[in-house]
Amino acid sequence: MIIVMEHNATIDQLNRVIKYVEDRGLKTQVNKGELLNVIAVIGDKSGLNAENIAAIEGVREVKKIQEAYKLVSRIAHPEDTVIKFPNGVKIGGLERPVLMVGPCSVEKDFDGLLQVATAAKEMGCQFLRGGAFKPRTSPYDFQGLEEKGLQYLAQAREKTGLLVVTEVMDTMDIALLCKYADILQVGARNMQNFKLLKALGRIKKPVMIKRGPAATIKEFLLAAEYVVSNGNPNVILCERGVRGFDTQFSRNVLDIAAVPIIKKYSHLPVIVDPSHGTGKRYLIEPMGKAALVAGAHGLMFEVHHDPDNAMCDGAQSLGIEQFKEVARSLNKLIGRIDYDNKNNK
Ligand code: PEP
Ligand code: MN
Repeated sequence: MIIVMEHNATIDQLNRVIKYVEDRGLKTQVNKGELLNVIAVIGDKSGLNAENIAAIEGVREVKKIQEAYKLVSRIAHPEDTVIKFPNGVKIGGLERPVLMVGPCSVEKDFDGLLQVATAAKEMGCQFLRGGAFKPRTSPYDFQGLEEKGLQYLAQAREKTGLLVVTEVMDTMDIALLCKYADILQVGARNMQNFKLLKALGRIKKPVMIKRGPAATIKEFLLAAEYVVSNGNPNVILCERGVRGFDTQFSRNVLDIAAVPIIKKYSHLPVIVDPSHGTGKRYLIEPMGKAALVAGAHGLMFEVHHDPDNAMCDGAQSLGIEQFKEVARSLNKLIGRIDYDNKNNK
């Protein structure tokens, strides 16, 4: 932490700040500048309140050098986190990017889900996604099949070997979801549901957190910090766009730069969802490619056996034939990326 004094701060004011810090067991080092004096604070700052120091007379500003997120930062953990699943699939680090596809919601037609899962397996995807508990903006919209939907996902896993990603909306459902899912997804709307994040810290299953529609990258990383600091290191981040001002052509603004930024400041895997990020099926392929080139550890997007009649998010879902074409083209790109020749299976 660095405390910058006002240009006209008195020596008394400077000494008072030094005393305040040293009384709390920390060391200080004063750097006298031509215009401003700066106090560097050395030691464990966890007991110091930066806002209180900033309010002391004569203080111009207080700058924190270390980020508020600690466990998820590269400083605490320089190596990439790689999440490993029992069937050998890995997410993160230099591993080949993964593909997670499936309908927005699991619907009554199990055969439709199975058609999507079979195509996904055929195209080399690793995960089947689908919501059984749906966070819908309107209470009158389809809310999901709940446990029946989870059973359908598990049956599709049984038949195809794909792993299952599905959303958890409530702490009360965590145990049930752990029975069926391989990754528990925290939806964008729940990114700052701190009680849910803390509870997910107490399980061992991987958790994928989607970026809130108005969340900064720092808030996104702090959401992950909630899970990791409560005991679960298996966290994946998912960039899914933030709310912009122009909704004429796309639902959200997909923040591709978030990928290299997160990789610079955190060791956690980061994937991108171009379906929710854009709201348009024709944008899945170009934005998916952009995300992969930017270094994403995977993509998640929506595929439906009959998008025109989907109960949710049909416009941003690919039909099965279109999906196969897109997957072919993404696979070509994934295969072409040379991650230092490591693990290019
Ligand atoms: C989803 O992936 O099913 C979903 C609801 O997305 P988001 O939370 O990003 O809106
Ligand atoms: Mn959706």
